[in-house]
Order: sequence, then C-alpha cells, then structure tokens
Amino acid sequence: MNIHEYQAKALLRSYGAPVSDGRAVLKAEDAKTAAGELDGPLWVVKAQIHAGGRGKGKFKEADAGKAGGVRLAKSVAEAAEEAKKMLGRTLVTKQTGPAGKQVNRIYIEDGSGIERELYLALLIDRETSRVSFVCSTEGGMDIEEVAAKTPEKILSFSVDPATGYSPFHGRRIAFSLGLEGAQVKQCVALMGTLYRLFVEKDMEMLEINPLIVTDKGDLKCLDAKMGFDDNALYRHQDIAALRDESEEDPKELEASKYDLNYIALDGEIGCMVNGAGLAMATMDIIKLYGAEPANFLDVGGGATKEKVTAAFKIITSDPKVKGILVNIFGGIMRCDVIAEGVVEAVKEVGLKVPLVVRLEGTKVEEGKKIIENSGLNVISADNLDDAAQKIVKAVKG
Ligand code: GDP
Ligand code: MN
Repeated sequence: MNIHEYQAKALLRSYGAPVSDGRAVLKAEDAKTAAGELDGPLWVVKAQIHAGGRGKGKFKEADAGKAGGVRLAKSVAEAAEEAKKMLGRTLVTKQTGPAGKQVNRIYIEDGSGIERELYLALLIDRETSRVSFVCSTEGGMDIEEVAAKTPEKILSFSVDPATGYSPFHGRRIAFSLGLEGAQVKQCVALMGTLYRLFVEKDMEMLEINPLIVTDKGDLKCLDAKMGFDDNALYRHQDIAALRDESEEDPKELEASKYDLNYIALDGEIGCMVNGAGLAMATMDIIKLYGAEPANFLDVGGGATKEKVTAAFKIITSDPKVKGILVNIFGGIMRCDVIAEGVVEAVKEVGLKVPLVVRLEGTKVEEGKKIIENSGLNVISADNLDDAAQKIVKAVKG
C-alpha cells in the first residue's frame, strides 16, 4: 500500500526527521487558511497523487494553468490560487500513464531554499533479503535514468539485520554524497531514523527524492514516497488508516475485499488461475502465443464459490478483456467449485467474450459436467498449451 506525500511527511516528522511545515487541503475554500498558517515568504503547492514526476507533469485541463503539479508561490493569496487551479483537475506524469490522475488533495508547505538536491531510498533487496540504502548525488531527477546512464553515481549497500543500523552506514552515505561538517552528523542521525521507521512500520520502499541541502546548509526531506507491505498491515492500524482508496485501481480494490491476489495489467486476455506459480506460467504462455494478459489472478487454494464468482466478475468488468482463460489445476482447490463459480458469475453478468476453460485435478469430471450442463458457450482445453493457443486464437483470429 502506498500513501500520500503529506502523510509520509507526517510520519517522518513524528520520528524527528527534518521536513518543512505544511498543511493538507481537500477543499479549495480551505486553501487560504492553510497557506496563512505557514510562515512564508515562499510557499510550495503540491498535488497529492500516488505517482511521482509531478513537478514535470502537465494538467489536462487548460484552466489548471501551464505549470505542473508542484508550484511555487510568493504570497498566501497566490498559494491559495494555485491550489484552487489544481484541485479536481487531472495531472498526467511519467508515472500516471496517459489517463492521468485526478487531484483530490493538495499539500501546501513552507518553501525551502535549495543548495543541492540529492537522492535517497531504502528498499528491500530481494537478492540479499535485507534492507538496502540507495543514494546518489543526482537528486530531483529520474533515478532510473541515472541508473541507466551513469550507474557509477549511485551507491547502494544493504544492512545486516543482525547488527542493524550503525553510524558507519550513515557516514558512508554522507561521504558519497559529498556532505561536510555538521551535515555528516545530520546524515548519520537521519539515516538511523529512516532505517528505524522503515523497519518498525514494515515498509517496502521509502524514497526521499530530493533530499536537499538547504541554503542554510541543513539536510531536509523535500519529497517523500512510502510503500508498505500489505501482509504486515494488520499490525499497523495507524498506517492502514492512511489508505486512499480513490488512488487504487477499482478492480484491485474490489479484489482485495474478497482476499484475491489480483493485479491489473494492460493486455486483452483475462486470467483466472489457482496458485501464483501457475498464474505466472499462464501469463508467460499467453505471451508466448502472441497475446498479453489483462491481469494476474491467483484465486488461492481454498476459494469458495462466492470468491470465484467475484473474481470472474472483476475480470469481465474490465473493458480491455477480449477473452478469458480459466486455468485450474485442482489440488486443494476443487474443479467443481470453480465451475460453479464461473457458471454463477456468467448467469449474473453474462458472457460477451470467448471463454476457454482448462480444468485438471481434484473433482475434474464433476467440474466439466457442471460446465457442460450449464449450456454456456465454453471452449474446453485439455492442457495449458492447448488452452493458451485456443484463447489467443479466439481473440486474435
Ligand atoms: P515530484 O516531481 O513528484 O518528484 O515532486 P517533488 O516534491 O520532488 O518536487 C519536484 C521539484 O520541485 C523538486 O525537485 C524541487 O526542485 C522543486 N521543489 C519542491 N519543493 C521545493 C521548495 O520548497 N523550494 C524550491 N525552491 N523548490 C522546490
Ligand atoms: Mn520527487
């Protein structure tokens, strides 16, 4: 789960990390009061969406103005004006895709004088299964671009969980960022704080881009992006409460209500599979035969008929889906339960695209009978390869 910048900054502040004072605004009429509570003489007005690249983004609506999603203002009135222009408008950035995202929240913050923009992130390194620090002197930029063009400008190392964070980690970062004097001390303290926050809140990702050296020579977190491990959210009610459902894919949101492992993708073939491994293999083989999966979906081992029905409805609700492939290898999952769920869902929402079903394993004969007797227009397949070829052919001709 991701949270907004202003929420991430509140967390940083509560742990003692240096951030500017700011106010979140949900309604245009509150913008002036919010800006008035800050000192000035510079205000930063920032669109709050779960996507980066806001500064270089563009609004779809002309009345939002030519500037991007991060704007500087020199007075309370100007700050309120910019907030009003952005609220309710659609911001398109490199990370939102061409559809963009509607801006429903604005963060107004005290503007900082910037001396240097640096990059810092903490993430889980899957190779070492450890928390890693990533830092670079090239802050404020697209870090993927830095990694591609000048990888030598990125320092990355992981922390041994047995010993945890030590000041030498912070010093290593400070020196590679070219920090001096009091900044080194600030860096050592800040990295320790960020590491503690990351571990205590079960984060997956914490990115400060840019981490700045202010014109007064101090370190400050100017932007903040945080992602949390969904599987650990049950023990962080405070974090779970920060969820903004309007930022999530409605299909993924619906799937999470049924505890389904569903991830929306861009392709045309909807997939319903049991087991993550088989789901991945199904996506691979769809690609092999020249089509693209519209989603990843693992209905799990102990799925009920209701869960399967919900899953099928989510797949059919996606207008990109031009065909559906059900691929079940029944182990704990029973083929008859899947078949009942599919038939039930089709009864409710209809079936406007070709459907290929491949059932194998526990209660396969019962499952096939349920589908046969339902009168549904189903193309049956005997194995994974056959199933993939049939659905791609049905969709692409
Ligand atoms: P992003 O574009 O979504 O990553 O949003 P950021 O919060 O990183 O802001 C983008 C850029 O706006 C930064 O890299 C800064 O150059 C600039 N910016 C943000 N806040 C301030 C500020 O307080 N003062 C000044 N002068 N520039 C700022
Ligand atoms: Mn940024």
